[in-house]
Amino acid sequence: MQGRIYIEDDPFEEILRSAYEALRVECIGKLFGRAEKDFNWVIEQAHASQLAYRLPASVDLYDSRDEWSFQGNYIGDYHSHVCLRGTYEGIRLPMLPKPNFSQADLKDVKAGTTQIELVIAIKKVKNLGRINNNPRLISGYILDKKNLCRFDIAACYYNSVIRRAELEISDKMRRLIR
Ligand SMILES: [Zn+2]
Repeated sequence: MQGRIYIEDDPFEEILRSAYEALRVECIGKLFGRAEKDFNWVIEQAHASQLAYRLPASVDLYDSRDEWSFQGNYIGDYHSHVCLRGTYEGIRLPMLPKPNFSQADLKDVKAGTTQIELVIAIKKVKNLGRINNNPRLISGYILDKKNLCRFDIAACYYNSVIRRAELEISDKMRRLIR
C-alpha cells in the first residue's frame, strides 16, 4: 500500500514560509509527528534549521542538534528546490525547479536515518496557471504584496525501494493555496 502523509495546518504554513522566505536559496528543516490509522505519518511540527552550509545547488546541515525537540518525534526532513541561474561545476542549473529527489536527497531515507524526505519546489511566476490533481503532489500559489509564487510539494520514503507518498492537507489549506 502507498505510504500516506497528512500535513497539519501549522507545519504546512511553516514549510511554505520557510521556502518562500528563502526563495533564492534552499531552505532546510526538520519534521516531527506521529503515525495514525489512516496515515503512516502525520506532520505535527516543522522547524526551519537556522544553520546550514549552502552551495548553489544544495544545502546541508552542521550537525544533528536540530533533531532535538521537547514535544515531537523526529520523522524526517524538508528542503526547497529553487530557481537558480547559471552553471555550477560545469552543469547548467535548472531554471524551473522540480520536486524531484536527487541522490543526495535520498541518502538519509535510504540509510534509514530519516523516515520521510519532503521537497518544495518554488519559483516566482507572473500568472496563475493550471493545477492538476495529483495525489502525490501538493501544488498551489502564495500571493503576497510583491510576489506571486508557484510551489509543488512531494515527499518520499523508503520501503525496499524509494516510493513517493500520497500527501494530504486540510480543506481550509487547499482553499488558501488556489
Ligand atoms: Zn533536493
